[in-house]
Amino acid sequence: MKNMKKIMVLLLAFVFIVIVSSCSNNNTSLKRKYDDITITNDKYRNYYEIFVRSFYDSDGDGIGDLKGVTEKLDYVKDLGFNGIWLMPVNKGTSYHKYDVEDYYGIDKDFGTLADMEELITKCHEKGINIIMDLVVNHTSNRHPWFVTACNNLKAGKTTAEYTDFYNFNTTGGNGYSSVQGTKYHYECQFWSGMPDLNLDSQNVKNEIKNIMKFWLDKGVDGFRLDACTSYYTNMTTQNVQFLKWLYNEAKAIKEDVYMVGEAWVTADTNVRKYYDSGADSFFCFPVSQGSGSVANCLRSNKANPGELFTKLIQSQEDIYDIGILAPFLSNHDTKRAASFLGRDNFEKIKFAQGLISLMKGCTFVYYGEEIGMTSPDEDDPCKRVAFLWDTRDSEGYVTKQPESKYVTDAYYYYGSSKEQLEDPNSITNYYKYANYIRNANPEIARGVTTTYDYTELSTQISVFQRTYNNSTVTIVANLSYDTPVTIKLDKETLKFEKMTQYLCATYADEVVLNGDEITLPAYSYAILK
Ligand code: CA
Repeated sequence: MKNMKKIMVLLLAFVFIVIVSSCSNNNTSLKRKYDDITITNDKYRNYYEIFVRSFYDSDGDGIGDLKGVTEKLDYVKDLGFNGIWLMPVNKGTSYHKYDVEDYYGIDKDFGTLADMEELITKCHEKGINIIMDLVVNHTSNRHPWFVTACNNLKAGKTTAEYTDFYNFNTTGGNGYSSVQGTKYHYECQFWSGMPDLNLDSQNVKNEIKNIMKFWLDKGVDGFRLDACTSYYTNMTTQNVQFLKWLYNEAKAIKEDVYMVGEAWVTADTNVRKYYDSGADSFFCFPVSQGSGSVANCLRSNKANPGELFTKLIQSQEDIYDIGILAPFLSNHDTKRAASFLGRDNFEKIKFAQGLISLMKGCTFVYYGEEIGMTSPDEDDPCKRVAFLWDTRDSEGYVTKQPESKYVTDAYYYYGSSKEQLEDPNSITNYYKYANYIRNANPEIARGVTTTYDYTELSTQISVFQRTYNNSTVTIVANLSYDTPVTIKLDKETLKFEKMTQYLCATYADEVVLNGDEITLPAYSYAILK
C-alpha cells in the first residue's frame, strides 16, 4: 500500500508538471514548433546548392566527395531542404569542374559513378530531388572533342571529326584564341581553357541529348543550366530558341524534368524573356546580391522598407506570369550574403533569407549561407571554401581548399554548423525554421499573390496573401530593423482566423496577434490562416 501511495503521488506530480508546462508553453507555442507535415511532392522545392569539393570529405583525403554528400543528406533534410543542386561533378580540368572533359564520368576527386548512383538513390529515399549542373556552353580545352578537332585542323582535315563542334574561323576576333600551329582561331568567351561549343551543330545537339538521357536515366531529376546567356553570346532570341529545344528534348526523356537556367541579367523583364523557352525556372538575379532588391529593401536608411517589399512581391506576380520563380541571395559566383549585407548585421543576415523564403517558386540556398559564412576576399576560390562542420581539426573537415589558399577563421565568423544547430538564435536555426514555414504552407511557393496597401498605417510593414487550391495564407512582415509595430489588420478582407507560425530574427522576440491587432518586432513575419 505504501508503495501504491508513492506511485499515486508520483503520478499526480507528473500530471501537474505536464499541465504546468503546457500552460507555460501557450505564449510561445508558435515559436519554432516542428509539427509533422506532409511536404508537397512537386517541382516547388527548397534547393540547397552544393560545391562537392568543399562540402564534406568522407575518406580523409582532404577533398569533399559524393559519399560525403550522401552522409550529410540527413543534415540537408533536417534543415528543410528537399532539393539539392550539385555543382559540376563530371571529370573537369579546374578545381570547380566547369570545364568538362567527360560528360559521362565522375571526377575522381569526387568519387565514382557508383557513388553518384548511391547518392541519387539515397536522395530519393529521403524525398530530396537532385539536379546537376549541365555545362554545354563550352567544354574544357582538354575534352577529346576539342583535342581531336584541333589535331584535324593541324593535319589540314578541316571538315573531319569534331571540327564542327566548336566555332573555328580564320579571322579571330573578340573572345577568340588561336589554335597553335594553324591559321585557325576558336571562340572562347570565358577564357582560352573553355572553348565554346557550336550549338548550331546537329552533332553537338545529338551529344547533348545523349548526355541528358544518360543522367536522367540514372535518376537525376533535372539540370541547372550553366551560362544560358552565353550560348549565343548576349543574343537573347537565339538563346531562348536553343533553350526551347533543350527543354523539349529533356521533357521527351523525362516528362517531369526540372530545369533552372542561369540567365545572369539584372532586370526582371530580361529574366522573364528566358521563360518563353518553356524551361521551368531561371534564377532571379534581380533579388540577389548586395545590389539586388532584397538588400535594397533592408538598407537601414529606407523609410518605407515594407512598402518597397510589397511592391517587389507585386511586380514579381505581374512580370513572372509563367514558370517557377527561382529566388536566391547568393551563389558560387557572388559574394556571400554575410559579406554583402555586412558581417556584423546578424539579424539582417537572417531576415534577408526570411524575405527570400516568402517569395514564390523554388528557393536556392548556397551551402554555408546557413552558417553565415563570409567571403572576405574578392577572388572566386574565396566564395567556395570548405564548410565548417565542427572545429577545424575534427574529422570530416575538408582541408584542401580551392587553389590551396589559406583560409582563416574570418570565413567562419558565426562559428561551426555544430555550434549553431545547438543555438536557437543561430543563423542555421533561422534558415531551418524559414524552410519549415515554407514547407508547412504550400501556398507560399505556389499561390497567386494579392498585395494590400497598408502604407497609411505603416510603411515598414508588408501585407500580402497567397492562394493555392482554394486555401489562402496571409503574410504580414515588419521590415524595420529596429522598430516594432502594432497595427489593426482588415479582418473582413483578409479573412484569417489565427496565426499559425511566426519567425523573428531575434529568437527571444515574439509576434502577438490579438483579434485583428498584430504586434510585430523588428525583422519579423507571421503567417495567418
Ligand atoms: Ca574525399
